Order: sequence, then C-alpha cells, then structure tokens
Amino acid sequence: MCRTLQDAGWSVVEADAGDTGVELALEHRPEVIVTDLLMPRFNGYQVCRAIRSNQTFLPQPRIIVVSSSNYAADRTNSIEAGADDFLLKPIKPAELLHVLELEGGTTFIRRTPGVSKGASPPDTTFFRRAIGTPPMVRFWGVRGSIATPGDSTLKYGGNTTCIEVRADGELIVLDAGTGIRNLGRKLAAEFSGQPIEVSILISHTHWDHIQGFPFFIPAYSPQNQVRIKGYEGARVGLQSVLSSQMESPFFPVSMQQMPGYLQIEELKDMEFNIGKVKVRAAFMNHPGICVGYRLETSGGSIAFLPDNEPHSRLRMAPVSDSAQSYEVLAFAQKQDEKLIEFIRDCDVVIMDSQYDAAEYRSHIGWGHTCVDDAVALAVIAKVKKLFLFHHDPDHDDAKVESMAEWARELVAIHGGNVEVEAAREGVEVVLNRATA
Ligand SMILES: [Zn+2]
Ligand SMILES: [Zn+2]
Repeated sequence: MCRTLQDAGWSVVEADAGDTGVELALEHRPEVIVTDLLMPRFNGYQVCRAIRSNQTFLPQPRIIVVSSSNYAADRTNSIEAGADDFLLKPIKPAELLHVLELEGGTTFIRRTPGVSKGASPPDTTFFRRAIGTPPMVRFWGVRGSIATPGDSTLKYGGNTTCIEVRADGELIVLDAGTGIRNLGRKLAAEFSGQPIEVSILISHTHWDHIQGFPFFIPAYSPQNQVRIKGYEGARVGLQSVLSSQMESPFFPVSMQQMPGYLQIEELKDMEFNIGKVKVRAAFMNHPGICVGYRLETSGGSIAFLPDNEPHSRLRMAPVSDSAQSYEVLAFAQKQDEKLIEFIRDCDVVIMDSQYDAAEYRSHIGWGHTCVDDAVALAVIAKVKKLFLFHHDPDHDDAKVESMAEWARELVAIHGGNVEVEAAREGVEVVLNRATA
C-alpha cells in the first residue's frame, strides 16, 4: 500500500500499531490516515475516535479504515467512530487511489437495501382474512426473568414472555421475550410468501420481555409489517431502548438494518384500537415504566399483567424503620382496587404469580405477585380464567404444578368460580363468549 501511494506521489509515514499511528499523526498532521481495524494496543475504532476528538487537529484528516472484516456492523461502527471510508481487504492499488481522488467520504459504505420507512406498507389483505376467527390466545413464553431450558422445565417451558393473540383480523403479540422466536418461525412457515402484519405490544423493556425480538424472523422480510407499541421508559424512549439491545457489540444486525417494514410507536393514550380490537393499558407496580393490557375482542376479553406487585401486600410488609400508617394502607388498597376494576369480568387473565407466599417474604419490593394475591385479585374481580404467569426461573415443573393446585384450592376456599391454570408453552385458548 505504501509503494502504491508513494508511486502516485504521496508522501507516506508508516506506523506499526494504532497508538504509534496516532502519535505520528499528531506530529505530521497528514491529509489522510489509512488505518487497519484490528491492531494491537489501539484498534482502528480507537484511532478514529482519538483523531476525531482531538480539537487541536484542524483541519481534520480524512480517515480510511481498511479491514478484512466483511460484516456490515464493522463498516457502520467505523463510520460511527469517525471514519470517512471503509475498504475491504485485499485492496487493489487502483481502488485505494480512486478513493483518495474522490472529494467526499463514505464512498464504499452502502446502506443495506431495505424498504424505505416512508414507503407505503405491503398489502396484507390475505393475511388478515386468514386469521382471527374465532379469537384465540396462544402461549409461546411463560417464564419470568431469564430463559430456563432443561429437563426441569420441559412441561411448562423455559422461554420468556411472549403471547400470541389472533382476533378480528389482527395478530397481536404481547411482549417479545425469547418465546417470540418460535412464534416467528411458525408465522414464516404458515404464511410463506404472503405478507404478514403483526402488532407487538410491549409491557415494559426488561430483558425478559424484549430479548427475543432480534430473532423474530418476520422482521427480516421486506414484505412484512411489524408494528411495535409501548410506553416511554424511565430513562429513554421505547425506540432507543429496543434498538440499543441490537447495537454492536451486543448484536450483529442493527434495528435499522432489519429489512421488514418496521414501525415503533410510543403510546401516549391509555386507550387505543388495533383494528377492531379495543385495547386499554394500565400502569403496573413494577420497577420502571410497566403496563398491563386489556384487549376486548369479539370473542371475549384478555388481560395481560406479566409483571406487577400488588400495593397492599407490599405496603403491609414489615419494614423495619417505618411503621405503616393507616393512610398508607388505605392508599395501597385503592391502588389495588384500580387493578381489580381493570380486570373485572375478564374472560382470560394472564397474571404475574412468580412466588408462593413464603417466597414472597424474601422478595418484597421486587415487583412481582405471590400466587395467593393473584388468586384473590381474580376472585374479587370475577374473572373467568386465570393463568398463573411469569414463572420463577428457579421453579421446576413440579413446583409450578403445585402452585396451580394451591391456587385452585384457594379459589374453592373463597367460594369463587375462577378456573386456574399455570400458563404453559403451546397452550391455546379459544375465546367464544358469543357462542358459549
Ligand atoms: Zn418480567
Ligand atoms: Zn420486569
């Protein structure tokens, strides 16, 4: 490369590593810096950042990163670090000289082809006709906190939160935990060749509720529409949280590079419609911004409250340094009454019930419900069917089963009519209130 440049009339200073390269650059103030990406002591990104952040370096040189890495993420990251061009090795002398003759940078950076986000969305009429009668719910991930594959979770499943709802021509996905991967595979197989349209409702952006999204196959096909809806997080917006989990060095494909017709909508109102399905959201008691959703379909209603800690139980808990006043408890009770109203008379309620009552005592303030409270809320609210959900990663199949049995006993003790089951991967519930 040196010879090529010298033969073309350039004067060249050579460095054997990144850090010495930066020193030489500061000393010689070159017009152009050609740097490798993978070098000892100081890599190409660091070289770019060191030069770009050096305010005394004016005018700034042009930086050309050369690398044997053919990954799109490495190109993008180089540009983000301050490079003007990225050339893939081996580099032909003519190619390098050509780039140096060009006025502007980023000549060799090509955007990954994808559907322009402003273009009109694909036609999904076929898909809409194919789904939605009668409405149904299917569990793809029922676990809380972290995925737990293995022998001890075979029955209920180890994937984190993801539920599919098909109703009235809409495919609605509740949360994008690791379960969404299998859902994506199923959809791709079922509608192969036909554009599909999915609305994903996000309860909150804790890992166990979003981590599967980068593996959601339908988002990689330009013919599909994927709409993600949720509320702004505690620190940054929904879009930035979702895309940051796909940033390098966490993931090789950025969200912008996903070829699907992707839209992220930050919700403001607590009531909205997805087609004919009415959706209501309510804030949950959980660290950060977390909501539960209630969906009204033609076949009945579904409430999804994956992460929540009832206020009363939390405020009743003995806290060493402050006595719980009557006012505090009355307030807490009011908050829980709001939740009861939210799920009142619901056909299917999918509710956090991560702990048993004994475990809860050592998890006060963790943002989750104990099964006794989940049952109490469901009985008071007269829900028809309760699914215990967000199973603790430490609970094996036998434990989950025994919690469901205990929940059924509690319902009987209280004279309620709630049907209780522990949510299980693969289980499908058909909503047929109209025909019942
Ligand atoms: Zn969770
Ligand atoms: Zn959470």
